[in-house]
Amino acid sequence: MQKVKVRIKNLGDQFGDYEFMLTQFDKNQRLKLASKKLVIFWTLAIFFILVPILHFVLVPLFLILGVVMFTRQMAQTSIIVEAQAQCPNCKHELILKDLKPQFPINDHCPHCRHGYRIHQI
Ligand SMILES: [Zn+2]
Repeated sequence: MQKVKVRIKNLGDQFGDYEFMLTQFDKNQRLKLASKKLVIFWTLAIFFILVPILHFVLVPLFLILGVVMFTRQMAQTSIIVEAQAQCPNCKHELILKDLKPQFPINDHCPHCRHGYRIHQI
């Protein structure tokens, strides 16, 4: 686990500083997660062989998606599993889950619908 300091800022000048925990994936963990996604997508592709006409589109689509998701998962070395912060606008609690630590992250508050941006500091 590694800590990353972030600043959550709204469009104005309100902000809050937080520390989020990064979960690092080693090569074996990434391979395991990527393989799961590959199996899920390729199982769907096999299932769609049984669907007439649509199988011409869905089978190649899910075969390709399986490879794409496998590649993306292998490239993802860390993730913020869960973090808590406050909305800079309405001060409601934000629960952020499964964030990719590619800053800045743009999102919006589910309570007040205002946008905010998460920067690494
Ligand atoms: Zn809000």
